[in-house]
Amino acid sequence: MQDRRWPTYSPRNIVLDSAVPPDDGGEGSIYVKDAEGNVFLDAMCGIGCLPLGHGHPGLANAVRDQMLRLTAAAGTLWTKPQVELVTELVERTTIADGRVFLGNTGTEVNEAAIKLALRATGRDVIIGFHRAFHGRTLGSISLTANPKYREPYVSCLGEPEGRFARLNVARATFGDLDSVEALLNEYEGRVAAVFLEPIQGEAGIFPASAEFLNGLRELCTRHGALLGADEIQCGSGRTGTFTAWERIVGSDPALAPDILWYAKALGGGFPIGACVARKDLADHMVKGSHGSTFGGNPVACAAGLATIRIMDEQGLIESAGKQLETLQGIAAEKPHARVKEVRGLGSMIGIEIDGPSDTPAAALGPLLQQERLLSTVCSGTTVRWLLPYRSGDAVLRDAWGRLGRALDRLE
Ligand code: PLP
Repeated sequence: MQDRRWPTYSPRNIVLDSAVPPDDGGEGSIYVKDAEGNVFLDAMCGIGCLPLGHGHPGLANAVRDQMLRLTAAAGTLWTKPQVELVTELVERTTIADGRVFLGNTGTEVNEAAIKLALRATGRDVIIGFHRAFHGRTLGSISLTANPKYREPYVSCLGEPEGRFARLNVARATFGDLDSVEALLNEYEGRVAAVFLEPIQGEAGIFPASAEFLNGLRELCTRHGALLGADEIQCGSGRTGTFTAWERIVGSDPALAPDILWYAKALGGGFPIGACVARKDLADHMVKGSHGSTFGGNPVACAAGLATIRIMDEQGLIESAGKQLETLQGIAAEKPHARVKEVRGLGSMIGIEIDGPSDTPAAALGPLLQQERLLSTVCSGTTVRWLLPYRSGDAVLRDAWGRLGRALDRLE
């Protein structure tokens, strides 16, 4: 088959066709079939956007019902699903009296957070972190650390000029409060915000400690900078609480970030993003300062609402919160010499692979595919699983077995 898409992804030569109906009594498929009928365990899940698995009937019905009732509405108009989703998000995010911007993708709500931080503070520098990933539009890639994503478009503070755009992003070390404080001092009075992923995802699944997040809160308050949490990958229930912030820090609004944004799992597989900010900050986003044709689309909002309702009804957030410990138990029972560490939080799981090359996980990709395990690989050394939240012992054992067989053949 000729691939007529832009060559922006390394092709896997799989044409996915359909979900395999679950045979374990649960709803939402964890296994999928390709066009040739081969069955795969899907630990990739559209890169973390299927908390309910594929084809959950409750979600499908909600989307269908809303599609038939009302399909789209301009941002100047309210719709019932929009009102309800905004209310849910404000109630579930520890930011007191939050206000919400609705978008369609992660990078879009990250851009909204950047605009809000610059506008609300009148300052011009944002501190991001080494290894961070925040998306691929021009504002977001300025915060994304890997130069491979930023070249040839954006340069940041301290980097050679001459790119298409120069954005005032300074980079600190994740987990190192001194490195943040040094930048706050260097750019005193100019730092609008410190933005971070409470669990770095693309970097290879590195959770922040409570000490680090509390320390950032204190530093930001002291220097008049805002604190922003990108929960696109780690939020929406993935870690056992609605936000990863809450799982790590707790639910005290005094310790919450000022801005927190969601996408990926929020829509159960349907495109949606949402940025929640303190009301006094959101008030700076005056008429015309931001917008999106599809942002807050009633069908997407209905998908988000149904996803949250189903997660509540089926105890899925609680079950997501247990995945890492279950897998660590399996790994302890059946260790593999090439697995250095199984880390993460809840159902955000990174498996660190040891040798034989510098990028062993990258070489694993095709072997995992041969074992019929769909899985992403981060940073060359980490296998990342972002499974549906209901995945329990049986699925994790199956995935571990497939990984082990692929690792046995790693040369
Ligand atoms: N931020 C984080 C933490 C992400 O993991 C991602 C995507 O992987 C993004 C932002 C970008 O989201 P999207 O691909 O929906 O634009």
